[in-house]
Amino acid sequence: MITLALSKGRIFEETLPLLAAAGITVTEDPEKSRKLILPTNQPDVRVVLVRATDVPTYVQYGGADMGVAGKDVLLEHGGVGLYQPLDLNIAKCRMSVAVRADFDYAAAVHQGSRLRVATKYTHVARQHFADKGMHVDLIKLYGSMELAPLTGLADAIVDLVSTGKTLKANNLVEVEHIMDISSRLVVNQAALKLKRAQLRPMIDAFASAIQP
Ligand code: ATP
Ligand code: MG
Repeated sequence: MITLALSKGRIFEETLPLLAAAGITVTEDPEKSRKLILPTNQPDVRVVLVRATDVPTYVQYGGADMGVAGKDVLLEHGGVGLYQPLDLNIAKCRMSVAVRADFDYAAAVHQGSRLRVATKYTHVARQHFADKGMHVDLIKLYGSMELAPLTGLADAIVDLVSTGKTLKANNLVEVEHIMDISSRLVVNQAALKLKRAQLRPMIDAFASAIQP
C-alpha cells in the first residue's frame, strides 16, 4: 500500500493532474465526503487528508509514504528525514513583509527601530531579518496575520501573498518580497528504499507532468 498525504483545498486540487499522469484517480471528493482516507482507482494507493502543516510530519514518521507540502511549511518544519525530489510548481505564491499603508517601513528600517513582526513563519522571518541586520520581536500567530498591524499587535507581518487582494482589502501594503513559494513532493526516506518499485515510477510520472 502506498499512502499519499495531501491537504484539502488548492494543494489537493492542483495535485490531481499530477496523479492522473501516474494513472491515479481519487474516487471520492474531499469537499463532499467526511472521510479522511480517500480511496483511488488503484487498490494499493490511498490518499490521507491532513492539515497542510502536518504533511511533513506524517511523511517523516511514515504515517504516509509521500506527500505534497508548500516550501513555506517545509522551511518551518526543517525537512528532517524527508527526501524532496521534485518542485511540483503548484500552489504558487510568495512570502512577503507587509505593513499598514500609513506605516513608513523604509524610515523604520533606516532608523534601526525595533519592529514587532507577527507571523506564522517564525523561522523564515527570523532568518530574513537577521540577514538584514534588523532587530525584530517576533510574535507567533496561527491565523489571520492581516489583523495584527490593524489592531496594533504588530508593526509588520510576514505572510503568503498571491494576488494581493487580501492585503489590499485590509489596507496593507507589501514592502518586501522574501521568497517565491511553491509546493514540493516529499518522500519518506525508508519508504523510498523499501517501496522503490512502486514509488519510483510514480515520482517519474509526476516529474513528467510538471507545468513550467
Ligand atoms: P489553513 O488554511 O487550514 O489554516 P494553510 O493556510 O496552511 O491551512 P492552505 O491555505 O490550504 O493551508 O495552504 C496550503 C499551502 O498552499 C500553503 O502552505 C502554501 O504553500 C500554499 N498557499 C497558501 N496561500 C496561498 C495563496 N494565496 N496562493 C497560492 N498558494 C498558497
Ligand atoms: Mg490558508
